[in-house]
Formats: sequence, C-alpha cells, structure tokens
Amino acid sequence: MTLRNPAATRGRRTRLMILAVLAVACAALVAIALPASDLTQRHSGSGVFGFEIDPSDQGGPGQLLGTRARPSLGGSGHVPDGTTVFDDDVPAVGNLDPDLLAALREAADDAADDHVGFHVNSGWRSAAYQQQLLNEAVSQYGSMEEASRWVATPETSAHVSGDAIDLGPPESAEWLADHGDDYGLCQIYRNEPWHFELRTEAADDGCPEMYDDPTQDPRMQQ
Ligand SMILES: [Zn+2]
Repeated sequence: MTLRNPAATRGRRTRLMILAVLAVACAALVAIALPASDLTQRHSGSGVFGFEIDPSDQGGPGQLLGTRARPSLGGSGHVPDGTTVFDDDVPAVGNLDPDLLAALREAADDAADDHVGFHVNSGWRSAAYQQQLLNEAVSQYGSMEEASRWVATPETSAHVSGDAIDLGPPESAEWLADHGDDYGLCQIYRNEPWHFELRTEAADDGCPEMYDDPTQDPRMQQ
C-alpha cells in the first residue's frame, strides 16, 4: 500500500507549472529574436554597399536603405533603357558621387535648352559587374592587354567608385566637349569620347590633357 504525501504532490505541480511558464517565455523570446537576426543577415549579405550582383535586380529600382555613405543603393549597375541623369532610383545613377551628379544635372538642364538630351549608358557599377565586363572584353579583344585599353579592373575603375559616367547619344558628348569644362565635366580618354569624370578645377583652368587610352592613366597602374 502506498501512501501519497499530498504536500509533496503539490510541490511537484508547482515546479512543473514554473517550468511550463519558463518554456512559454523562452519560445516567445525566440520568436521575437529570430526575425531581427534574419533582418541583420539580409542586410549584411545583400550587397548594401553594392559590391555583389543581386540576381533579382538587373538594374531595376534599388532599395533605399537610409542615409549611408555612398554607394547606398544595391543592384549591379546595369542601366535600363531610357535612363537619364535625373533617375535617382537607378543604382547606376543614384550611387554616383553627389558632386558629379550635381554637375551632370546642371549641364543636362542647360543642354536641354539646346535640344540635347543626356542618356546614361553606364554610371556606377558593382565590382562584380565590372569584372563581368572585363571578362567579356578579354574574350572580345583576345587579350587582357588589349581589353585594358577599354575596360578597367574592379580595383581601378572610376565607374566602380562612382566617379565616371558614359553618356549617349554622341550629341551629348559633343555638347560636353564644347561646354563641359564650365561644369567641371571632362573627357579623360581620347578613345572614349562618351566617358566623363568630374575635374572641378576645369571651370578655371580648362579640362586636363587627355590620355590616349586608360592604359596611360596612372590610376590604372595600381
Ligand atoms: Zn566609362
């Protein structure tokens, strides 16, 4: 015959209740904590600084992630047709150096008065996109040496740092060849009449002497 001790039974029940409450509390904490850590992972892994190609974003509107140092938009730098220097939401434009962008917009406004439009063929590029362009150029030109006359490495490209823009149609480049120095916008390479960078001293001194091609540019020797 077994005699139960009622006091001991109550004590076990109380301990079980406490354990159950603790378990529920832990589950609730996990539920709260998980989405936060997931969010952190998404932000750190999705190219906030733009140096990874997001396969879901081939140049579409980027995701604005607050006020960060540039580049602040994601994406790869592919440029949708019809993009202008005023399209902030396209990463190829929105990730450009703000001073370069301001100069381009001022010039574009004035060029419009002369019925010349500025179309963005290329602007900021992710390092991965730049590498892809370089790989394509090597197979097109047959050697790294020849490709380097046209496409820089991700480490040296002024496009990757957000400091260069390629404009079309040819009339826009011709307009800038005549007026660009007023805005500090200069053609840098003789073989790339579409490629412009900001040279703020140009307003006073004119644009610097051009290089024949990027291989002569000391910045490309790094
Ligand atoms: Zn360029």
